Amino acid sequence: MGDDHGSDDPVTEALAGVHRRLGTLDDGEVAAYIPELARADRAGFGLALVSMDGHRYAAGDAGVPFTLQSVSKPFVYALALAELGLDEVSRWVGAEPSGEAFNAISLEEDTGRPSNAMVNAGAIATTALVPGATPAERFERVLACLSAFAGRRLDVDEAVHASEAATGDRNRALGYLMRGAGSLACDPLLATDLYFRQCAVRATAADLAVMAATLGNGGVNPVTGELVVSGEVAVQVLSVMATCGMYDASGEWLLRVGLPAKSGVSGGLIAVSPARFGVACWSPPLDVTGNPVRGAAALRELSERFGLHLMRNPAPGTPTLDVDGTRGAVVARGALDFTAAERVLSALRERTAAPAGPLVLDLTRVTVLDAMAEALLRATLDRLAARGRPVTVVGPAAERLTGRHTVRPVDG
Ligand code: GLU
Repeated sequence: MGDDHGSDDPVTEALAGVHRRLGTLDDGEVAAYIPELARADRAGFGLALVSMDGHRYAAGDAGVPFTLQSVSKPFVYALALAELGLDEVSRWVGAEPSGEAFNAISLEEDTGRPSNAMVNAGAIATTALVPGATPAERFERVLACLSAFAGRRLDVDEAVHASEAATGDRNRALGYLMRGAGSLACDPLLATDLYFRQCAVRATAADLAVMAATLGNGGVNPVTGELVVSGEVAVQVLSVMATCGMYDASGEWLLRVGLPAKSGVSGGLIAVSPARFGVACWSPPLDVTGNPVRGAAALRELSERFGLHLMRNPAPGTPTLDVDGTRGAVVARGALDFTAAERVLSALRERTAAPAGPLVLDLTRVTVLDAMAEALLRATLDRLAARGRPVTVVGPAAERLTGRHTVRPVDG
């Protein structure tokens, strides 16, 4: 299950590098239309990444809480899908990118159905579907679900909730329009208050990375092991995030970053690399499309450097990893990219935690070692050697990894 990696591992270092480079980016404006959000620290910047094995990495202000705002939307959509199924949920909310602003009156002409669950109208319609005998019971369902995704009990920032409740007339108006058109399942004031509360749930970038990783891990929280939603629901949510998650910049995002994602006006941003990683950023200043400036830049860089674009051809030869206890060997096979290398180096680190004994990294059956994987493995081997735990590397890549030769492509 999950473990935290310290500051001396190469994945943390890669995140810290991105954090350092983008920390100087000072464009964008902090959202102020919800008065309480205007108090956010525009310099705050956190990054976190969680693997499908529950390994957690972080840089900067990843432990600072902020309100989820729109980042709550995919998770409440997941809850509605889990409770009611896709067909019933689709009667109330569509799955088409609106190409419009998050708070647009984006309703289908004939049915009054909002275009998707990632814009406000669709999120309010989705929240209205959450069952419960009382408003408190309904909200408890929402909070319990968000908490299960995060792997810890989350809470509400009451000041932010009160601030949005006092100023959220546009969202209430959306609620009334939908109710008038027959596309809202409950009273508009009840639906919008529940929605304001879900937006005011507080979490950190480290929490959000676990939430994102849970979606990428078929609905199983990789840190707690809990099945939060079915794999089918996780796929449905990721699909809508991929096409609608980044406000009216969603198409451009899929093109350039290639990851299902969701941003929010408080500066939160999650992205999911299915079966690989959940990533989260927090940085309050937003660009003109409403997306966090530093978070979006960080994801662009991480996707590119770690080769995470969804449409990228998977490397030939699915990587596998075994630990051969008798030889004290970590044995890797197939094509090693960033994702596989992260697993190899975590396995090596786990072995070094055990009492002294031989440490072997067997790469004999590794078919491809990409540049990122090579850099990560080399950094890990250097560090272990410096700590007096040298690793014997076997296989064609051994000489390169242990630094006796210049870097060239692996050919077998
Ligand atoms: N609570 C915010 C609103 O409805 C969320 C908006 C967002 O993060 O996009 O205005």
